[in-house]
Amino acid sequence: MEQPRYRGRFAPSPTGPLHFGSLVTALASWLEARAARGKWLVRIEDLDPLREPPEATGQILRSLDCHGLLPDEPVRFQSKRHDAYQVAIERLLSQANAYRCRCSRKQLQQHGGHHPAHCRAGQPAPGDTPYAIRFALNDETSQWQDLLLGPQQQQVHAELDDPVLVRKEGFYAYQLAVVVDDIDQGITDVVRGSDLLDMTAQQQQIFQALGAKPPHWLHIPVIVNDQGQKLSKQTHAPALDDTWPAANLVRALDALGQRPPATLERATVEEVLTWGRNHWQRRAIALTSRQAHDITPNTH
Ligand code: GLU
Repeated sequence: MEQPRYRGRFAPSPTGPLHFGSLVTALASWLEARAARGKWLVRIEDLDPLREPPEATGQILRSLDCHGLLPDEPVRFQSKRHDAYQVAIERLLSQANAYRCRCSRKQLQQHGGHHPAHCRAGQPAPGDTPYAIRFALNDETSQWQDLLLGPQQQQVHAELDDPVLVRKEGFYAYQLAVVVDDIDQGITDVVRGSDLLDMTAQQQQIFQALGAKPPHWLHIPVIVNDQGQKLSKQTHAPALDDTWPAANLVRALDALGQRPPATLERATVEEVLTWGRNHWQRRAIALTSRQAHDITPNTH
């Protein structure tokens, strides 16, 4: 059977403007897609209006544009995909892969992560308090191959780790939307930061429950600041200075272990990207000692 053609994506949550760490992720996924002569997509994961300044999406898209990272298909916005998420939720509920849960964080803590009202058995405590919808994980030692990090093994604990798919406030959650859209967009390869490594085994189970084959994953080291914290809005990472896109790209190539020549700093964006394409070596990605487990996991 013919292999599906490579389809990759960069999927930022618009909690702030693009910073250097997100440029590195975007560039790595763009270069992987180009190396495979595939398509590269951009998806804005705007699921949580309370954490997203309204100007952030425009800032991210302008920044990508001025760094020459142009998607091959129209940008997708998760805020316009609620109907598809609802269809997936109904399917997961009807298959008993998801359940309604009224437990508070405190109650779960007091019961060592177990659900005192036996939500998973389909009997959430009666009442009109709001409920979340969670995915019912299977106990599993998940084994898979990361395209950069090699063989991975993750323990998944049923009930204790069950991720939220719809939050009590009614927002669709990252773990649901990312899988539904990766399936719908036919994504074959995901390149992202290793702060999301711990989410992968759970996502594989959600793919399977929705009848789809999981993509290949490649987790790159996250960029840290002088205090060893991941660059993010929470750690006050500065926005990228879009007036120096070529220099930013050279620094990003360097952070990916590609050893760009210093003269490239004075080149144009197109020249830097062409150099990157011609010299791209996945195996050269600088593996620092700081991998996912040294880094505070992503708060999704
Ligand atoms: N939207 C997620 C984030 O910005 C990334 C999703 C993914 O690549 O799986 O952290």
